[in-house]
Amino acid sequence: TQQAVMQQERLRALGQMASGIAHDINNAISPVALYTEALLEREPALSERGRGYLQTIARAIEDVAETVARMREFYREREPQLELRPVRLDEIARQVIELTRVRWSDMPQQRGAVIDLVTDFAPGLPGVLGIESELREALTNLVFNAVDAMPAGGRLLLRTRRLDGEPARAALEVVDTGVGMDEDTRRRCLEPFFTTKGERGTGLGLAMVYGVAQRHDAGIEIDSAPGAGTTLRLVFPVPAARPAEAAAPPAEARPARR
Ligand code: ADP
Repeated sequence: TQQAVMQQERLRALGQMASGIAHDINNAISPVALYTEALLEREPALSERGRGYLQTIARAIEDVAETVARMREFYREREPQLELRPVRLDEIARQVIELTRVRWSDMPQQRGAVIDLVTDFAPGLPGVLGIESELREALTNLVFNAVDAMPAGGRLLLRTRRLDGEPARAALEVVDTGVGMDEDTRRRCLEPFFTTKGERGTGLGLAMVYGVAQRHDAGIEIDSAPGAGTTLRLVFPVPAARPAEAAAPPAEARPARR
């Protein structure tokens, strides 16, 4: 639709801007990082206080480097050599559960908030055509958002389902019992830089998810209301069952390459 195309154009322009800025920042901080490290490692005469200052600088540089890496991630063109391959959504979910364990398991518990993680994977769900690393990144963002939405704890459900109909589709859902979104937030949450988390938010997580969904021909559906939790659903086309077709969908059925 018109709106989706505009959103895509905006994202692309923002992505280009972000990667330009990321590049400049990287160039600017690398001598700072280099000389800080050199001072820490090769100046035995440093005072305790001087060493402490330098360590603080080094940590700050690390944070900047991480932010820059995230900026570059948020809108990336798919590498041309990265072909869509059959991917099992429950496998992706299992991997992401391991990758994100500290965020929903230990960290909230330290604050006295327990997050109960539950899975519900449809048996025999056909694979979808995708890029595993991108799907993992997208799902990781969704899990982080769900955890952020449950500061007092709650239930996090990762679910896969087959959506019947013609053509059949497969859904990957992240369901939380968190704070939920009001109507304005729900409508704007995919926009790059839209965040309600103030300083702690970048507003890039869902924009990145949106980019991944686009490249997979997938839809994003959001059910949410304040206080009622959020369901974020990625809906993927299921390739036709015949193996030959599953391996090479007709040209029009492929997500557009940009
Ligand atoms: P960020 O997490 O940095 O704010 P995102 O793009 O990931 O950026 O999310 C944008 C906004 O969407 C969030 O600030 C929040 O208001 C809302 N949001 C996203 N996921 C959820 C969720 N699971 N529950 C409630 N609100 C959410």
